[in-house]
Amino acid sequence: MIYLDHAATSPLAPEAWAAMEPVLRTHFANPSSMHQAGRLARNELTRARESLAGNLGASTRDLYFTSGATEANNWAIRAAVTIAAGRGKRHLLTSRIEHPSVLAVFESLAEEGFDVGYLEADASGHVAVDDLRLAMRDDTGFVSCHYVNNETGSIQDVETMGRLCKERDILFHTDAVQASAHKPINWRSFPADFLVISAHKFGGPKGVGALLTRSERGSAIELAPLLLGGRQERGRRAGTENLPGIAGMAAALEAVYARHDTEGKRYTELSDRFLANLDREGLNYRRHGSGGLAERQLPSILNLYFPGCEGQTLLLLLDRKGLAVSLGSACEAGSSEASHVLLAMGYGEEEASSSIRVSLGQSTTAEEMDDAAAIIAEAVKKILVRS
Ligand code: PMP
Repeated sequence: MIYLDHAATSPLAPEAWAAMEPVLRTHFANPSSMHQAGRLARNELTRARESLAGNLGASTRDLYFTSGATEANNWAIRAAVTIAAGRGKRHLLTSRIEHPSVLAVFESLAEEGFDVGYLEADASGHVAVDDLRLAMRDDTGFVSCHYVNNETGSIQDVETMGRLCKERDILFHTDAVQASAHKPINWRSFPADFLVISAHKFGGPKGVGALLTRSERGSAIELAPLLLGGRQERGRRAGTENLPGIAGMAAALEAVYARHDTEGKRYTELSDRFLANLDREGLNYRRHGSGGLAERQLPSILNLYFPGCEGQTLLLLLDRKGLAVSLGSACEAGSSEASHVLLAMGYGEEEASSSIRVSLGQSTTAEEMDDAAAIIAEAVKKILVRS
């Protein structure tokens, strides 16, 4: 199988497995246990926390482990809105092209009586900073905008947005799930109050992620607890820690950051080569996003529209040939609805349901990309001949 669905989830990196195996086999004890085995498990937990915090430029007290990004996004948004409401601010802003784990929370907040405003995206999948500036009001208490879009790979200017929010004393959250493998984060200087990552998007295991927030005096965020119970995660997210997952996440982040300098160039070369092959096959297609603009578009996500090729039919044909790609986002798989991201970018129903996402990862090779282009060309031609 050729796996080009890394934006949905990545295979486990060897470094992650190497860190997880001894924890699963040997350091299986509960890190809260008093005995020696428990203390050894706690040491592993501390080591992983320090490694992650170190790589993210954060203090260990800024970091909370969660079961993934869905949980961390829900937690951050609810906690931020509680603080904002306490300041008498009930106007909230987000964009139309957020991940469902963000959009669904805002929908429920709107039902609870909060005033939720949605920022539009342009045709290349970007949310304009000026639109945010114009939408801000005296009673705006919280803004959430993702860092990189999971369907198109469009990079949002979250640093400028975050600074704008800071100037106006508005809390800012960013879902950095799709950015984490590609844009190293330096939390110390990052202008946000909450940032979310998920291990399985950068070679770590599934079911583990992290929420970063502010603990330093002066800008500390009063994070409302998510789960009450034991004293894990400083009493804010109770429950025995997922130590194998956390160890795997720390090792995966370390590995992906170590390779970062060369990986960006490699993804650009691989995607350019892939698109040149599609061109050579004479295919009519459109790539959504801003293509070659490195600071505005990840090279590892290619959202492609093939006119006249219904997305599900194409996906099925590709799957039969052993090529794994997806229709927009895996989280919305099973729903026959067209991508909310492409619709919000101004494309019609037909285009939004006839686009596929090809996403590259650490294990992707040039040979796989060549084979993928050939398989796609054959499938597209087959569908067009039939129709
Ligand atoms: N945000 C984004 C941008 C994502 O791509 C995903 C995963 N599809 C999530 C959040 C949810 O992450 P998790 O699977 O860890 O809950």
